[in-house]
Amino acid sequence: MRRKIVAGNWKMNGSQGLVEDLVGYVRSQVSSLDNGVEAVIIPPALYVRDVQSLAGEQVAVGVQNVARWEAGAYTGEVSAAMARDCGCRYSLVGHSERRQLFGETDAVVAEKVVQLLSQDLIAIVCVGETLAEREAGQAQEVVAAQVKKGLAGVSGSAWRNIVVAYEPVWAIGTGKTATADDAQTMHRSIRDVLEALGAPADEISLLYGGSVKADNAAALFAGPDVDGGLIGGASLVAKDFMSICQAMPADAES
Ligand code: PEP
Repeated sequence: MRRKIVAGNWKMNGSQGLVEDLVGYVRSQVSSLDNGVEAVIIPPALYVRDVQSLAGEQVAVGVQNVARWEAGAYTGEVSAAMARDCGCRYSLVGHSERRQLFGETDAVVAEKVVQLLSQDLIAIVCVGETLAEREAGQAQEVVAAQVKKGLAGVSGSAWRNIVVAYEPVWAIGTGKTATADDAQTMHRSIRDVLEALGAPADEISLLYGGSVKADNAAALFAGPDVDGGLIGGASLVAKDFMSICQAMPADAES
């Protein structure tokens, strides 16, 4: 059975004040989440310990990135083992901002996935096409290549720790979203790619990300291959984040 997940990526935003507000609000609302969704809070690494008190059956904590190395002289980096040691269950990998601003290639993504799997952490592997690639009719091909290369080191039971987030680059932080049909079509195509890789494709959660808000989440989450969302800006507003979590249908195909 696929997990339903709504993950909030704070990016490089937040403060102690925001953490306190958000933790208080999520704690007060989490028991009303009755659709089986797991809310994953992904703050900047410095705040991971501050949101950890929320972790439980319905809430998990993650990091936005880990190093591709295990440990050692890599100033400024955080390892998968440290994320696990601090109570994280998830990590993003290959977010488009990491790819565009930090030169993260598919090969680097694959190395990070291997590090995460070695710590029994769940990798949320982000993929997505640029506007130019979509306009050139290459969206599915680009995304398929990212999935294949980024997951090159995964096999056997490790697939249970893989989640794929489809995030069209042109939709991230822009207020534009894929249509619900386009999101569903791409998710179906990703599931086909996973199947061809020998993965238990029907058990892998696929998330949509890109300007998901409280008022469009239900429509975007309606597709049978959409198992939740990866939320940026709206995850910084506790009420909006919880509304998006509630928008996941309880009876989704899973
Ligand atoms: C993201 O950062 O992954 C994201 C989807 O951002 P936003 O929701 O702000 O578009």
